[in-house]
Amino acid sequence: MKACILAQPAPVEKNPLVYSDVATPDPSDGQVLIRVRACGVCRTDLHVVEGELAPRKSPVIPGHQVVGTIERNGPGASKYPPGTRVGVAWLHRTDGACEFCRAGKENLCERADFTGYSVDGGYAEQLVALEDFVYPIPENFHDLQAAPLLCAGIIGFRCLRLSGIQHGGRLGLYGFGAAGHVAIQVARHWGVEVFAATRDERHQKLALELGAVWAGGTVAEPPHKLDAAIIFAPAGEIVPAALKALKKGGTLILGGIHMSPIPALDYNLLYYERTIRSVANNTRQDGHNFLRVAAEIPIQTQVEAFPLIEANRALNALKNDAIRGAAVLQIGNQAKSR
Ligand SMILES: [Zn+2]
Ligand SMILES: [Zn+2]
Repeated sequence: MKACILAQPAPVEKNPLVYSDVATPDPSDGQVLIRVRACGVCRTDLHVVEGELAPRKSPVIPGHQVVGTIERNGPGASKYPPGTRVGVAWLHRTDGACEFCRAGKENLCERADFTGYSVDGGYAEQLVALEDFVYPIPENFHDLQAAPLLCAGIIGFRCLRLSGIQHGGRLGLYGFGAAGHVAIQVARHWGVEVFAATRDERHQKLALELGAVWAGGTVAEPPHKLDAAIIFAPAGEIVPAALKALKKGGTLILGGIHMSPIPALDYNLLYYERTIRSVANNTRQDGHNFLRVAAEIPIQTQVEAFPLIEANRALNALKNDAIRGAAVLQIGNQAKSR
């Protein structure tokens, strides 16, 4: 099969992914072999490819927002008949045994594996995943539109939930890429007023189109104090500005897996019971809950499609804020040839 392989992390400007032929993986116990139709491009992929996240497997095939169909069940896998359309997300496997798993916090598992990072992911024509960790995709989404739901969507949903934002509340979104453009639709559905702070003017425009009441630069001050804010951009220097925009008792959620250093904070920014909380991974329950809500709303993702062979170009565009909504690799148009 064809896949984009990362042998050695490097700046994406150097096009480190190599499009090549690799052996099709064989599904082992409890696994399914999936034929990939679309794979979303996430900022985390950028962190993996550029080495901001220390390598866990090398070489590795990135990609953890996979939509595809089950080609074949491995030994002991029987939940889904071949042909079922499923999604694969970041959480590949948990041990089910550590203190966090036992406490219902599998997103914090001590021995988790992650798709496209510690195991091969979806920048490929096929991949294997555990049947217990795949998600049936609601029928109303096309493959390309569904892909960004699997990380940008699920993580954004967990951020919204942990922010405690309620109907009638005011929410700030800092950074308005794939996650922001989905989160705003959920927030609007909940009757929340959204304020979008993002450096790119095209992203500000998109936020307004999607119902933000205000859009401005990342350190511009929103016209109202906020009940909660979520930072999706990986830039620590936004933290003081976001804290400053919060009401007393407000919550700031940090939604990224990696962030540049946070500058020294004036305690007054945090005082009055403001909270800063990071979000790490997601539980399977988050995924199932979000996909149900996404289908009910229904969420409309805006995507820019790239062929698999152009994964480097997609990552460069993401790094340069040049994607409106989410970048998605379209894979296997030639699926008839299987
Ligand atoms: Zn665990
Ligand atoms: Zn992701």
